Amino acid sequence: MSESNAATELDANRNAPIYLGIDLGGTSIKLALVREEKIVALEQVLTKDFLGPREVFEFALSFAKRQIETLGYQFDQLQAAGLAAPGVLAPDVDELREVANLSAWTNVSLTDVATRILEKPVVLLNDANAAALAEYKARDLDGRSLALVTLGTGIGCGLLLNGVPHCGDSGIGGELGHVVIDAADHAWLCGCGKRGHVEAYAGAGGVVRIAKEMLRDNPGSVLHQDIDDLSPYLIAQAAEQGDATAVEIVCQTARYVGHAVSILCHIADPSYVLFGGAMDFGGPESTVGLRFLDVVRQTVVKQSLVQVGEHLHIEFATLGKDAGVIGAALFAEQARETSSEAWDAASSSLLKNTTSFAEQGT
Ligand SMILES: [Zn+2]
Repeated sequence: MSESNAATELDANRNAPIYLGIDLGGTSIKLALVREEKIVALEQVLTKDFLGPREVFEFALSFAKRQIETLGYQFDQLQAAGLAAPGVLAPDVDELREVANLSAWTNVSLTDVATRILEKPVVLLNDANAAALAEYKARDLDGRSLALVTLGTGIGCGLLLNGVPHCGDSGIGGELGHVVIDAADHAWLCGCGKRGHVEAYAGAGGVVRIAKEMLRDNPGSVLHQDIDDLSPYLIAQAAEQGDATAVEIVCQTARYVGHAVSILCHIADPSYVLFGGAMDFGGPESTVGLRFLDVVRQTVVKQSLVQVGEHLHIEFATLGKDAGVIGAALFAEQARETSSEAWDAASSSLLKNTTSFAEQGT
């Protein structure tokens, strides 16, 4: 490549579109500018420091303006914004349903408020799907399907079908935590009020319950020292030190999770199932984390049609806690590039708000 061609390409890259990602959480909110699928500016603020959506979007606008100027870009490179939010979001509704710690954010048309303040098209998606989209883009998956399962107090799942976030007709598509893995009348009660859901068995509370049951028959386990403070983290640590009961608790959890993943695979048939969230049993760097993945994989193969096991990749997610904010921005980019329903809605919302600005003489 000649020097002038290289310089032209550099200039073209300088003008690359920028997208704003906003990842809303009950405790904190992340803001990021994303350019060519990479974060170029990132800030985290506390949710409680803001009265509600309007104040957050005003802060997001000042963040974007400040960072774009600092980085030497032009504000008109900012194309659109994506908002990732927790809870169930129906595709035809841009409001949050009841979500803990976010009462000021419910029953408000979030994209309308955001569009009015940012004066850019704004798209909204579930935070699990946002994180899944970011993990998807970090791999070269070329239109294939991916599920990102998050393990912690609850079990969440973001689902991309052939590269597009899927939430179903009522916003619960991919809610893996509430699939039934035990249909018995006395099955364990899930936090949602129904019985037998995988979250009741393999969410953090379920793991501790399994541990307490197993420890009754295993008096030699080191976990008896922490019997009143048991957690998946302590169990993973004991397993890493070779405690046989702790290892079996992790394996039993993996079998429950594998059962649910097998159900998911027969419905959505993803090429990749990734695991993220706080409960990673040590993650990819630990033998226990890898053992967990291995038992999930064995369970899926054992319980599924042969085609599922042949092509399925089961791995840990790689982007960590920034996946949601990156994915929010990438969803805005994806919507713009594909002229999807989300983009059409965002664009018409912008038009509506621009008109109302004019009517107000602002
Ligand atoms: Zn449930």
